[in-house]
Amino acid sequence: MARGLYLSSSHFILILLASSLQVFQTLVYSADNHTRSSFTQINRHLYHSSVDLMEEIKGFVHRHPDKLSIETFKTENKGYKAEITVVTYSRNRREIDDRSKFRILLSFGQHGRELITSELALRILSVLSEEKFLPKMDHAILRDTLDRLLVKIIPMENLNGRKLVEAGDLCERRNGNSVTFVLSYSDFTFIWKDIGLLGLFSVAGRGVDLNRNWSVDWGKKEKDYDPYEENPGISPFSEPETQIMRKLSKSFEPHMWVNVHSGMEVTANSVDEIYKFVGPDRSSNSCLDEALFMPYDHKNTTPDGLPSQKMRLMLENLNHLHCHDRCMIGSGGGSVGYLAHGTATDYMYDIVGVPMAFTFEIYGDGTASSRDCFKMFNPTDQKTYTRVLDDWSAAFFSLFKLGPNQLKEIHSMPAVNIEKLVSIDAYLEGYLMARSSRYGKKTEVLDLGMQEIRTYFRLFLLSSVLLMFMFCTRISKSQCSRPNISTMPL
Ligand SMILES: [Zn+2]
Repeated sequence: MARGLYLSSSHFILILLASSLQVFQTLVYSADNHTRSSFTQINRHLYHSSVDLMEEIKGFVHRHPDKLSIETFKTENKGYKAEITVVTYSRNRREIDDRSKFRILLSFGQHGRELITSELALRILSVLSEEKFLPKMDHAILRDTLDRLLVKIIPMENLNGRKLVEAGDLCERRNGNSVTFVLSYSDFTFIWKDIGLLGLFSVAGRGVDLNRNWSVDWGKKEKDYDPYEENPGISPFSEPETQIMRKLSKSFEPHMWVNVHSGMEVTANSVDEIYKFVGPDRSSNSCLDEALFMPYDHKNTTPDGLPSQKMRLMLENLNHLHCHDRCMIGSGGGSVGYLAHGTATDYMYDIVGVPMAFTFEIYGDGTASSRDCFKMFNPTDQKTYTRVLDDWSAAFFSLFKLGPNQLKEIHSMPAVNIEKLVSIDAYLEGYLMARSSRYGKKTEVLDLGMQEIRTYFRLFLLSSVLLMFMFCTRISKSQCSRPNISTMPL
């Protein structure tokens, strides 16, 4: 159009601004890439790409349609698309809706950089489909165990984040930030990739930690809060991935939930506490890297009552059988030295009412530099890679065996003190949630209210800036095209 052929001063300023940002971004990225290249890269001989991993999984499903089925859930929020693939296992496919079975929900790859967890998902599927067998496990016992189970596995909960990692951002743990802030003005469209630099614009972006986006104690920030690591999102369940997971958990109603992670960071303050627990032998640091956690993450205590004691007993069993008594055990919040708010496991336990809700940390290299993320979160040599997958797949099948018996014991107890959600769908419509939980709804509604107010305030500021900008440029354009009029008094 002819209007696009002339450049007003405002257009010139916009072009100048965009060029400067582009140059700045290029400089930052090239410096960053240079630094990154000196760290450990993904070992492609050991690790599948997300595409290959999915192909392998589809292969299992294709070869064992009697046992496995696969579904992909897709959703979108403000232009940000996410999908989650779920594999369902039942030894006899016809019993897939059998509610008498022991239901297990397992999630891997909630954090993009923890590739080893998705490799473990693949290994567990290979055993479930009976293509591979665990050493030292009797086939008859395995089959007897599997007969009682219905398992849903999410091999890569955070596919978008994982893709960022595969593209070279090896430290990324949050979900994809593929939504960019688009500044559209007249004939020009500027796309600013790294919205993080402009605080006002961050409301449009992603980069949310999917293990901080759940509603239990959501949004609370500790003194050492780092948005790069723990961004909880603009509200609970703001992220499509979390929305899918929430729906899945509420429809499936699992008896057991395990959220599988790697690369646990332990604060210096808690190291002495840990050694107090595992004993005086400081020669091995494996106890700092592998853990079996139960609720809560948002406070440093475990829930009250017998079901909680049963959970702990299960973990102690696993620790003895598979961790040589060196894994950390306890509440997530009480063990690692920091509290985590809005986590999946706390939600599963408190709101969904999953009687056995766990978070496992399956590997970590505490000696790696904190910027050498691949090494910090994933084994880098064949021997360790194989050891981790062997040990932890065996641990999972022990858990599968223990679970149904444990449930019987819990059910035979007088009263299980798990209060259920009253109403949570309101969250997805952006309203305040009113729920009755043991933590008191007043505090949560108040906290959430403050978050909403902050979000609206940011949106208000953003729209004011944009309106002022457009208003000023209109005036400037009028001055250019109609100079005589602009000098007239109004
Ligand atoms: Zn993690």
